[in-house]
Amino acid sequence: MAYHDSLTGVGNRELLFQQFQVLLDAAKHNNRQIAVLSLAPDGLGQINAISGHGLGDLILTKVAHRVQKVLGKNDLLVRMAGHRFIALLPDLTSRSLADKKIGEIIKEFETPITVNSQDFDVTITIGVCFYPSDGEDPASLISHADAALDSAKLNNRGNATVFSEELNISMARSLYLRSRLRHALENGEIIAYFQPQVNVISGEISGIEALARWNAPEGQISPAEFIPVAEEYGFIDELSRQIMLDACKWSKKWLDKGYGKIPMAVNISGRLFHNSRQLIRMVRQTLKETGLPPELLELELTESTAMLDPQMAIAVINRLGEQGISCSIDDFGTGYSSLAMLKSFPLKKLKIDRSFILDLTSDRNEEAIVRATIAISRALNLTVLAEGVETKRHFDILKSMGCDVIQGYLFSRPLPAADMENMLKTWNPAQVIADLA
Ligand code: C2E
Ligand code: MG
Ligand code: MG
Repeated sequence: MAYHDSLTGVGNRELLFQQFQVLLDAAKHNNRQIAVLSLAPDGLGQINAISGHGLGDLILTKVAHRVQKVLGKNDLLVRMAGHRFIALLPDLTSRSLADKKIGEIIKEFETPITVNSQDFDVTITIGVCFYPSDGEDPASLISHADAALDSAKLNNRGNATVFSEELNISMARSLYLRSRLRHALENGEIIAYFQPQVNVISGEISGIEALARWNAPEGQISPAEFIPVAEEYGFIDELSRQIMLDACKWSKKWLDKGYGKIPMAVNISGRLFHNSRQLIRMVRQTLKETGLPPELLELELTESTAMLDPQMAIAVINRLGEQGISCSIDDFGTGYSSLAMLKSFPLKKLKIDRSFILDLTSDRNEEAIVRATIAISRALNLTVLAEGVETKRHFDILKSMGCDVIQGYLFSRPLPAADMENMLKTWNPAQVIADLA
């Protein structure tokens, strides 16, 4: 009993510490490798919050059993704390043996877990490292497997990530950002910058996108870096609220100054979109606080966010639509869209991902994708926008293909509010088109 976890029936930490060194000594003697896996189910925290710990514990026990089922009699599985497990796969002659088992573990979680005749979609995320290449003692091996798990939770949920030195460095960076984020939010270090969207025919600014910028004392930090960290560590709601508020405040100001009815686009993270009650509350509150008409707010969600649970996405987009708020699909082409689904989405715009524009002049495949996306948008009656347009050559090609709106460095980088306002003040659509002719 001293070596077993009373909840799940697998080993406990005492067992791990008792066995680990013995297995390491044997591996050293036989010139074998050991795979160290740090495993954690995804989404159990949410299930606990909604349904209570009793149910969560039952699910956790089933999680342990599914992992155990794949492991052999010489492998060791223990529960460390909370939802976290460690597995040791000793006596490996090659890494591919470990890869195979890891693949099987992930596959085990493709079917939902049934508890009290209710189905739960639980996936598992795994961090992996190997003795002797990633460490030679239990403490460093466990910490490296944990680092790989942390990284996987940020960038590769429901999958396995193998430890590397680069990963270690980037995790150290993520943890540093995490430790700074709360203060940054309280201090107003994260603000909205603005990038214009230009109509290719009229030259008018037909929309503005708000992009988060973290002006840290040591320099600006990219949203590509801090948004995933904010999502994983629970800061995304507050961050989104602040950016939305900032964006709507400026938009209302520019509306009042007479620059026209220009919709403001705000990016919505997957986590926030799937927490739709919170999202709708946030939108309502922001519009009330700023007085911005709802038709001037547009939410951008990525293709993968929308397609994760299309039925649910349609319902949320409809609810937003009832309040006058429109939605666009960002980074289109990077995920997998079901065209049948796309047809039922009450959308306003498709934004073609920047990666397709980048190679537009040299790559015929990219050209075909852009052409097809424009055709789909036409058929579905959506506005189509190309993002990341940097050159006049791109502009010409996109215009000739029938793209409606262009966003990119060709017109402007994302600007601080004061500079954006200046741009609105001096913008001359006819001149813009003439200069590009
Ligand atoms: P996104 O929404 O697809 O935004 C477009 C990105 O492309 C922005 O990067 C923008 O600065 C950049 N960009 C625009 N024109 C050009 C161009 O001509 N050339 C090149 N090379 N890049 C261009 P940024 O601002 O670094 O944002 C990166 C991503 O971070 C955004 O991609 C978005 O997914 C996310 N993000 C930014 N702000 C927020 C936010 O407030 N909330 C959430 N949830 N995500 C945000
Ligand atoms: Mg966007
Ligand atoms: Mg994009």
